[in-house]
Amino acid sequence: MSDKKNMTLSMRILLAMVFGAATGLLIALLGTPDWARVWLIEGLFQVVGQVFIRLLQMLVVPLVFVSLVCGSSSLSDPKMLGRVGGKTIALYLLTTGIAVSLALLAAVIVQPGVGATPINVVERSIAEATPFSQVLIDMVPRNPVAAMANGQMLPIIFFSVLLGVAITLSGSAGERIKSVFQDLNTVIMRLVTLVMRFAPYGVFALIANLAATSSAADFAAVGKYVALVFAVLFLHALVVYPMLLTVIGRLNPWLFLYKMRAAMMFAFSTASSNATIPVTLESVEKRLGVNSRISSFTVPLGATINMDGTAIMQGIATGFIAQFYGIDLSLSQYLMVVVMVILASIGTAGVPSVGLVVLAGVLTQVGLPAEGIAMILGVDRLLDMTRTAVNITGDATVTTLVAKSEGELDLDTFRDRDAGNIVSAPTPSR
Ligand code: ASP
Repeated sequence: MSDKKNMTLSMRILLAMVFGAATGLLIALLGTPDWARVWLIEGLFQVVGQVFIRLLQMLVVPLVFVSLVCGSSSLSDPKMLGRVGGKTIALYLLTTGIAVSLALLAAVIVQPGVGATPINVVERSIAEATPFSQVLIDMVPRNPVAAMANGQMLPIIFFSVLLGVAITLSGSAGERIKSVFQDLNTVIMRLVTLVMRFAPYGVFALIANLAATSSAADFAAVGKYVALVFAVLFLHALVVYPMLLTVIGRLNPWLFLYKMRAAMMFAFSTASSNATIPVTLESVEKRLGVNSRISSFTVPLGATINMDGTAIMQGIATGFIAQFYGIDLSLSQYLMVVVMVILASIGTAGVPSVGLVVLAGVLTQVGLPAEGIAMILGVDRLLDMTRTAVNITGDATVTTLVAKSEGELDLDTFRDRDAGNIVSAPTPSR
């Protein structure tokens, strides 16, 4: 019965997307009358959509902290942490490297920037990207409570892992604290399932708002760019990840993608890998069978440092802007873009639009005009949503591969098409 309930939720989210898009388009077709703008777009949809995103965000810090402490304190062998960390980071860098290289290649072949029509320049200030050395320093929190208050993922991850390790080394005191964290974890996972019941309404409101406010003219002006980003995103999700899962993991990639569909829909609707962490965690643990010892570490880390979809957008956007301004990039500039994008993805948080901020840094670094970003601002939201779905699929791919290589993937769960239940599972098995 619980499976049926879960299917119903996935179905309901999907329906919410379709109805949301239809409602938004209808409003746009009616010429966005004043009442619709005031009461729906800036009223109901805005409130419901933002409340939904906040509910998810509200869970992220407690969930990541508690589940990471549980995960790292249950590692029997502390060496495993180093090994898992090493493999995970290497795979994250590799997938991002493949993503940006594919994107640049596609941009060079298709030349999306040649003949693009300049569109109305939107005034928006683009913040500076943080230098990589600072990212490393900032990883260690001066004050873990402040890091949590500000939702800074890397310092939270750093502190939680250390605390977990200390708990394992603290004998009976550690055992007592560990069991408190395990109970807390059960309660927080329950909270996640409660929040997800609200998902269809939130998704409906977010998509309706997007459909009502996007302008077709913006898309037409940079149509080739948009189409190319979509094509490479799909290529990465439907060819590169399946290849990695098949070749390295010897796992059925289609089953993997099928089981990740709910998380992808959440990522698409919220455009935030961070806000999607609760759903990604549930999906990889309950549906794919990854032991939480692995996923509690790899998923939040991935949401923070692994952004393959974002790297694809950045690669293509760089090519697009260079072509638009008639600037020829040299091979070393291309290589610089690859390295910059990989490094920058480590320092960027998984929140909406941050990919554009980082793009400004990449452009400046290779000597391209950062104002070029104005060309693609208008269409970025839809691309942001789609690339976020790819970002979290990449996190789950690496998580599954690392778990498999560590013998921490339950193959029976992975093979069971209906395993796991996003919504109604009351108690997580830790
Ligand atoms: N929204 C993306 C994410 O959260 C980041 C970005 O590309 O802007 O993963």
